[in-house]
Amino acid sequence: MTTSIIGFPRIGENRELKFNTEKYWRNEITEAQLQDFAKNLRKEHWELVKNAGIDDIPSNDFSFFDNTLDTAVLFNIIPDNVKALDLSPLDRYFALARGYHGDKGDVKALPMKKWYNTNYHYLVPQVYEDTDIKLNGTKIFDEYQEAKDAGIQTRPTLVGPFTLLSLSEYHNSKPDTIFDKLVDTYKQVFAKLADQGAEWIQLDEPELVKDVTGEKYDLFIRVYKELLKDKQTNLKILVQTYFGDVRDVYDDLINLPIDGVGLDFHEGRKTAELVKSGFPDDKVLFAGVVNGKNIWRNHYEDTINLIKSLPAKNIVLSTSCSLLHVPFTIENEEFPEDIKKHFAFAKEKLTELKEIQAILSGKDQAAETRNKELFEKPRVKEDPKVHERVASLQDDDFTRHPSLEERAKIQKAEFKLPVLPTTTIGSFPQTKEVRKTRAQFRKHEITQEEYDKFLAGHIDEWLKWQEDIGLDVLVHGEFERNDMVEYFGQNLDGYLFSKNGWVQSYGTRGVKPPIIWGDVARNKPITVKWSKYAQSKTDKIVKGMLTGPVTILNWSFPREDISKRESTIQIALAIQDEVLDLEKNGIKIIQIDEAALREKLPLRKSDWYSEYLDWAIPAFRLVHSKVKPETQIHTHMCYSEFTDIIPAIQNMDADVISFEASRSNLEILDALQAEHFKLQVGPGVYDIHSPRIPSVDEIKNTIHKIIDKVPVQKVWINPDCGLKTRGIKEAKASVENLTEAAKEVRAEVKEEI
Ligand code: GLN
Ligand code: ZN
Repeated sequence: MTTSIIGFPRIGENRELKFNTEKYWRNEITEAQLQDFAKNLRKEHWELVKNAGIDDIPSNDFSFFDNTLDTAVLFNIIPDNVKALDLSPLDRYFALARGYHGDKGDVKALPMKKWYNTNYHYLVPQVYEDTDIKLNGTKIFDEYQEAKDAGIQTRPTLVGPFTLLSLSEYHNSKPDTIFDKLVDTYKQVFAKLADQGAEWIQLDEPELVKDVTGEKYDLFIRVYKELLKDKQTNLKILVQTYFGDVRDVYDDLINLPIDGVGLDFHEGRKTAELVKSGFPDDKVLFAGVVNGKNIWRNHYEDTINLIKSLPAKNIVLSTSCSLLHVPFTIENEEFPEDIKKHFAFAKEKLTELKEIQAILSGKDQAAETRNKELFEKPRVKEDPKVHERVASLQDDDFTRHPSLEERAKIQKAEFKLPVLPTTTIGSFPQTKEVRKTRAQFRKHEITQEEYDKFLAGHIDEWLKWQEDIGLDVLVHGEFERNDMVEYFGQNLDGYLFSKNGWVQSYGTRGVKPPIIWGDVARNKPITVKWSKYAQSKTDKIVKGMLTGPVTILNWSFPREDISKRESTIQIALAIQDEVLDLEKNGIKIIQIDEAALREKLPLRKSDWYSEYLDWAIPAFRLVHSKVKPETQIHTHMCYSEFTDIIPAIQNMDADVISFEASRSNLEILDALQAEHFKLQVGPGVYDIHSPRIPSVDEIKNTIHKIIDKVPVQKVWINPDCGLKTRGIKEAKASVENLTEAAKEVRAEVKEEI
């Protein structure tokens, strides 16, 4: 049995690729210097993987920005306006990724979307009626050659045609517009690689783990039929899937005239069952047994039993997905040894593959014993009090009383807010000064007193501004928070933070997800101090501001020994404690952000409720079910794409929800209208992601569109997300225009009534 991986984190052990690329963007190094650096980095990584004992090593998994973009560029799927820019190929590539504004022209970046159920983002290829598919660029060939010259035979990787066709956006065109030429050009790539001496190619086809039925199924069958017809080369083809199982196409897939099939045994709930139903002797099964998405050590005994139970004759031990989704190495982390030994980041996963291989061939008894010991005692810090609390939950703990309608009446009397009340989503600009002061405090360069004084000063200033411009419901501004999840993680038991555990999110951007290490509990109030302070400074209502349990879980590395449901319930109880403390301390409106709720919807629609929403929504309700009727609960979501889960959103049973709407042309309003949405809503009236300041008239216009569709009594007026990434000037000007617009429309509406 041999070993392989699907891809390796290209950012480098210390995010060297990020820093060098950004230097290049700032004109601090030349293109030749950047290319040179990248070449060395690739070589370093191939050697690292090779020295770890991995047999089959991928190439072209490197990217300056994104592999889907690389693939689009390889096939010349490049909008005309970018092609027309008089730039070097590399700069044109960056223009696609980031937009270009300069003396050579002005183009917008390609849209970016989440890569399946990960926090990685890909650039969406844009197909037009005249898109001229042909070989363009040599990256995949060059990188193969580079490795070969370094004495390493690699398996070039490429986004597969089915996934590429499925992810592309079509303008006056459809997959058929480019189908024939695309298939043809893939074949040219095969021929060229075979000429160079490549033995295998890996086609990444994660699209196959979604619901592949109807037209989609036909497309898959057709594209592979054409691709494999009259095969001219000996190049072996691996169709690599990940992030789920391929239940809709398993039989078709294993009967294709290809040489290898890559399957995910972690997220693919049905993968083992499918393989057990039969796997052909003439194909290689690339068995994704080491989890590429999480950071816990593999359970060797389970893995070995699984491998032994599979009927496949030729098995390559592999990871469940590219290692791109985990941090580089645990080596430099400062966790205590007895914690550290439970984790495997990318580099350590290579060792795991090697050890599993050795154990299977009876060569490494010691590794087996060491691994067994890891699982003899609980891997995490357990807290019996948390267990008791979770076990004692009753249905009623997930239900708020009285009903939404009753509460609305009570709250209306309590708050006496005007029609179309105005508010913001929570954060105000995180200026350099704010970030610097927070860092100084973290490094103990300033005292708690000095830091508190700084925060209080900021809160005072921004409260005064909010009062002056006449906002109805105020916020304290979140100056004490670096990040909406990390801040809570740092204040909860059961969380761990790495120093260097970066995972690529998009381009040169990374995230450092916290690790849920034990049972989660809150041992002291987190936000009460500043919320209470802010409320004491004004007669208007100041909203409390919390992050919800589903978002906290979705942006962390979760435990593997208990279900995500159970982890989320633990977090929900911790946040419930915070909600009740805020309420006790005089906070009358509490916003519980669920920015990432939609993000982890299962890839198969048929799993949406049973696998996710059926516990995620109750977990949210658990957080606020115990508050008094007069306490108003808000929630906020960053996406408007929830037209298809409106009943679930309604089931969250918050009193008010705000969400992004301005960019999607308020489409969601039709859906809300059609579904008789019951909650009060604040569809964002302008896009905070752009520095542009919306005029009063523009916002009035948007408000009119909203109240055309949603009863005016239910509408709140707010921006579409927090303002922390904006500059002070534009943030203030925009919100001032927002309050003015609301006042003007309010006057009109009053007259009408
Ligand atoms: N309350 C948070 C903020 O304003 C919400 C952030 C988000 O939705 N991503 O920053
Ligand atoms: Zn948001």
